[in-house]
Amino acid sequence: MMKLLIIGGDAAGMSAASKVKRNRPNFDVTVLEQTTDVSYSACGMPYNIADPGRAIDDLVVRHADVFREKQGIDLRTGCRAESINRTERKVTYTDTGGYEKVLPYDKLLIATGASPIIPDLPGGLLPGVFVLKNLEDGRRIKKYIGENTVKKAVIIGMGYIALEMCEAFRANDINVDMVKPRPSFIPWMNGELAEMVIEEVEKNNVRILAGHEIRGIERHDRGLRVICSGINIECDLVLIAIGVKPNSSLAGDAGLDLGPSGSISVDKSLLTSDENIFAAGDCADAYHVVTGEKVWIPLALRANRAGWAVADNIIGDHTEITGIVGTAVFKVFDLQVARTGLSMGEAEKAGFEPVEAMITSRSRAHGHPDSSIIGVQMVGDRKSGRLLGVQMVGKEGAAHRINAPAVALHAKMSVEKFSRCDLAYAPPFSPVWDPMLTAALQLLKEM
Ligand SMILES: Cc1cc2nc3c(=O)[nH]c(=O)nc-3n(C[C@H](O)[C@H](O)[C@H](O)COP(=O)(O)OP(=O)(O)OC[C@H]3O[C@@H](n4cnc5c(N)ncnc54)[C@H](O)[C@@H]3O)c2cc1C
Repeated sequence: MMKLLIIGGDAAGMSAASKVKRNRPNFDVTVLEQTTDVSYSACGMPYNIADPGRAIDDLVVRHADVFREKQGIDLRTGCRAESINRTERKVTYTDTGGYEKVLPYDKLLIATGASPIIPDLPGGLLPGVFVLKNLEDGRRIKKYIGENTVKKAVIIGMGYIALEMCEAFRANDINVDMVKPRPSFIPWMNGELAEMVIEEVEKNNVRILAGHEIRGIERHDRGLRVICSGINIECDLVLIAIGVKPNSSLAGDAGLDLGPSGSISVDKSLLTSDENIFAAGDCADAYHVVTGEKVWIPLALRANRAGWAVADNIIGDHTEITGIVGTAVFKVFDLQVARTGLSMGEAEKAGFEPVEAMITSRSRAHGHPDSSIIGVQMVGDRKSGRLLGVQMVGKEGAAHRINAPAVALHAKMSVEKFSRCDLAYAPPFSPVWDPMLTAALQLLKEM
């Protein structure tokens, strides 16, 4: 009987385990998960924290016991994989009691995800300093806000989790300062679009302090003080949200090939450099459809999809994943921010001759009530005419509108072909010429 061992019990790991068991109930599927939480929506944590009336455990999609009892998966929570012996096909792990144990495998899936980057700051471990990655982090933050008087928070970092959390804190009536060392707000974002986002953040009484080196965190009165170059900020809570790194040390120590940002290198069937070991989700790399190069973009859909693809390959239905185009959306107060494909900088780096068009259009037809502005930046390649990327910001109609150019990127469409697509129109949803078409027509003129 096939022995499948999976390290990591969240999006990628549990998707793979469930699909294998559904299709091959006789396979022996074991999952090692170091925490006590499996299968939960990390993406929902900022919105849950925003609402003090909601229990954090609402985010659990499927409880551990359901996997064990209904699906027949040997799910071992509180068990941390420590090393992989590729020659003997065995994994050593520490169980809940702290004992070292060994499990054999025929096929192994590494689905260990990513970890928050924690800078080596003095005071980084003080009570009241948090990161937000797993459900336990969410629980801790929610409990701290509930049990202490938190009037002011400092968020270190300005990525999407930092921005979602600044809204969550404001919803709890907590004042927020955002601080980071680099002077640019969101480095990949077009300047005009970034201005729209900054305006929205500041309108909600959040201070943006970019360009301040963070030197440490110290206790101050009954709270904390963040020491930065040029400014010290007193607060009650600090959230460090400066990005994540892949959990690839198990793979690296076992001699598997690593890819961009130290993620585990996999081929299109999610196989690592060892024919018996797969890797999927945030710990692994992927092909970028636009550049054809390997990239590391840790997001949820690709983790779930990769988990399924590994399951298919394990049960013998050979499956390959063509790749990703870097589609991402997030909400900043009343704004939707969306992107797909390459920014100007990324396109240049990849060897294209990028040209951009920046337009503003409307979310609804001219004169239709409640219409709002949508800003669109579209990037194309002067040499080949190909569409390379789109960024969009608006109060409505930005998040899902990004899916049209995302599909166009998968189809490797030219800007001209995209400009001729038959997109939807009715006054409550868009102008006759959808903002995507207006941007494409403008870009054609620039190219
Ligand atoms: C606050 C927040 C908001 C997010 N919002 C979005 C969003 O809006 N859209 C989006 O696409 N993505 C979002 N993401 C990212 C998304 O959650 C991840 O891409 C997704 O969870 C990746 O799934 P995964 O299974 O690869 O890794 P993870 O979910 O990180 O799971 C990996 C699991 O492996 C376990 N593990 C690690 N090492 C070991 C070991 N040695 N032994 C045993 N177990 C181990 C970990 O404990 C963890 O449970 C968000 C993430 C966060 C934190």
